[in-house]
Amino acid sequence: MGNSEGVDLVRRAEQRGVRLGASRAHVIRVIGEMRRPFNASELLEAVERETPGVGRATVFRTLQLLCDIGLLEQVRLDDGQPVYIADHSDAHHHHLICIGCDTIVEIADCQVGRLAQVIAKDQGFQLTGHTFDIYGLCSECRKG
Ligand SMILES: [Zn+2]
Ligand SMILES: [Zn+2]
Ligand SMILES: [Zn+2]
Repeated sequence: MGNSEGVDLVRRAEQRGVRLGASRAHVIRVIGEMRRPFNASELLEAVERETPGVGRATVFRTLQLLCDIGLLEQVRLDDGQPVYIADHSDAHHHHLICIGCDTIVEIADCQVGRLAQVIAKDQGFQLTGHTFDIYGLCSECRKG
């Protein structure tokens, strides 16, 4: 297993102005090597395995930091559990989430913005944003 993706994520964090101490850089490299959506405890385990001695607080702070600068996105599975993905766009988008294998597909085309506007206006709300994710079984999982 190479670590080029991990190195790449470290570089992208630096490009976005993140100052990297050694342990933060380690955590970001491990995050870059995580496959599929991962949750915080899976990341903690991987960090512990590869660079023992990095504190949990550093791991959580780094996770939050990468979300803040748009290199990671937090998505909730259908049980409400937050997971993190690294390869989605910074721009507004929605998700198709497989409840079988946790595959998360990015849907760039937002078709619910106008509906959200109408509903908010109806209730006297000034719209500031919306979320819309779809849960189901992907075609691979449906074969099973
Ligand atoms: Zn996304
Ligand atoms: Zn699936
Ligand atoms: Zn939308």
